[in-house]
Amino acid sequence: MLSYRHIYHAGNHADILKHLVVSQICHHLTAKEAPFFYLDTHAGIGQYALDSQQAQMNKEFKTGISQLLELKSAPDSIKRFLKIVKEMNPTSNLKVYPGSPKVVEAYTRQKDKMHLCELHPKDHPTLAALFPNKRRANVEKGNGFAAVKAMLPPPQKRGLVLMDPPYEVKEDYKTVVKALVEGHQRFSHGIYAIWYPVLSRKQADNLINSVQRTKIRNVLLLELNIRDIDADKGMNGSGMIIVNPPWKMESEAQEFLPILKELLQEDNRSSFQLRWITPE
Ligand code: SAM
Repeated sequence: MLSYRHIYHAGNHADILKHLVVSQICHHLTAKEAPFFYLDTHAGIGQYALDSQQAQMNKEFKTGISQLLELKSAPDSIKRFLKIVKEMNPTSNLKVYPGSPKVVEAYTRQKDKMHLCELHPKDHPTLAALFPNKRRANVEKGNGFAAVKAMLPPPQKRGLVLMDPPYEVKEDYKTVVKALVEGHQRFSHGIYAIWYPVLSRKQADNLINSVQRTKIRNVLLLELNIRDIDADKGMNGSGMIIVNPPWKMESEAQEFLPILKELLQEDNRSSFQLRWITPE
């Protein structure tokens, strides 16, 4: 089943958390001269036209990136991410929002390599057209979970694997953990970032607990809930599970999570979590 289209949600609160984390990880990866590899298992179309009919349907970006752009002062982590968004929108009008491939591309150097997987028959060609240079980014029309096995370990021996499935099929909750284990067995010092939706505490904890049961060490969790976690309103929040996070990630998240909570909250039951699922 491939009915999910990210454009309807582009730039919402969950994208902000995910892309801010991805931006920070890349910032730290590029602090070293050595090249890095990026695997995006569920890449989407790369960037999103916010004036499109689809994005305009629910205008989710209005309570996400539009709010973030209003911040008067922000820590460097948020500023870095906003710089990417602003560079894609040279006039003050917000027209385009970067997907994960574009966020990462903003950091890549000639020597770095991206591998982007997208299965949707309509979204894959759009992504491929955005990244025509195969040496820079290889765009695969394939199952991103399978690419974890096929592409790891990368020759660069360092890098980030982003797993951002739509979870439209329940199986994704199991497959994402299985893929994490398979990836970690092949490339144990790589950075892995898994995005997950928070529909209820129980549903999110089921996924978190299954990651904990893998016994993989050094796993940090960041979660942002914009309203009561158990409200019957769909996606109340989202989180990122990060294996082998850059060492400054925790302190940076300590800074930006309260700001995101204040800025993006829908009611006074909003919350965030920052904790180690398993320590080093
Ligand atoms: N990572 C993107 C971003 O942050 O900009 C958003 C990705 S969106 C949440 C999930 C994407 O995964 C959709 O475009 C969907 O078509 C695609 N997809 C679903 N199942 C897939 C699979 N097994 N392998 C690769 N792509 C898949």
